[in-house]
Amino acid sequence: MTFKYSDLGLVNTKNLFQRAAENGYAVPAYNFNNMEQLQAIVVGCVESRSPVILQVSGSARNYIHPDLLPHMVRGALEMARTIGTAIPVVLHLDHGDTCELAHSCIDTGFSSVMIDGSHHPFDENVKLTKEVVEYAHSRDVSVEGELGVLAGIEDQVSSEVSHYTKPEEVEKFVGRTGVDSLAISIGTSHGAYKFKLKPGEEPPSLRFDLLEEIERRIPGFPIVLHGASTVMAQYVEMINKFGGRMDDAVGIPEEQLRRAARSAVCKINIDSDGRLAMTAAIRRIFAEKPGEFDPRKYLGPARDELIKMIKYKNEHVLGSAGRA
Ligand SMILES: [Zn+2]
Repeated sequence: MTFKYSDLGLVNTKNLFQRAAENGYAVPAYNFNNMEQLQAIVVGCVESRSPVILQVSGSARNYIHPDLLPHMVRGALEMARTIGTAIPVVLHLDHGDTCELAHSCIDTGFSSVMIDGSHHPFDENVKLTKEVVEYAHSRDVSVEGELGVLAGIEDQVSSEVSHYTKPEEVEKFVGRTGVDSLAISIGTSHGAYKFKLKPGEEPPSLRFDLLEEIERRIPGFPIVLHGASTVMAQYVEMINKFGGRMDDAVGIPEEQLRRAARSAVCKINIDSDGRLAMTAAIRRIFAEKPGEFDPRKYLGPARDELIKMIKYKNEHVLGSAGRA
């Protein structure tokens, strides 16, 4: 079955990014792969009156099932209207790797897709991205491209080493492909283990010099940061306290994300922090109430913890609260 995103109540990224750029904040892109995460993202963003990008990878889409996903999202938007103010919502494909996948998402209600050709040589990346842009723009769907490679593991995406985005390539890439936003690599990475630090050592700074150079070359163009979880210490501690084991998990310091959000960065991706919040809450319940076996009794508190985390991010890190 095919869907047009506007029939589901979704919007593309165009106005959202324009307003974010003009007002110095970033729109949050939260990943989800089940009902509780979707509920938490929508409730958290309605309660903090933030625009939001609901983000699924190809594997998350398969986990839910491609036929079920559009109905879940439509239902979530109806729920948003019932519980509060309607907020602008985008449904976005994270790390699309083929034209077929991107086109299939566009045909089933996505209002934005990422085509990630960053592992290919420049010309191949351009060719692949351009093909998706042509299909997407004929349907008023937004496209995110990527230049540079992030280290780390995220769903099907993994790379041992990172390659920073080369600022001298961005104008050519944006001009040739016609993308609406660009993901760049300036020191963020995927997953919960972003840096190997010695005791007492601070994580290295993001390469704001590269970001500034990119901004200078494509002024006002929406930039996207992947792998931008803080890996919130309170959740890692809670996981470890209640039987988990996540040694040396460390992410991007909040202050650097605030700085990025004030710049040309219009979209900040958050996946790991959401996973940590839910896992921490579930581990706590399992440790404190070993007899509990009603899924609502542990998934419910996990959902509540995720709502709390999302409101915190919108209000105190991305600056998107109150902008819907
Ligand atoms: Zn990513």
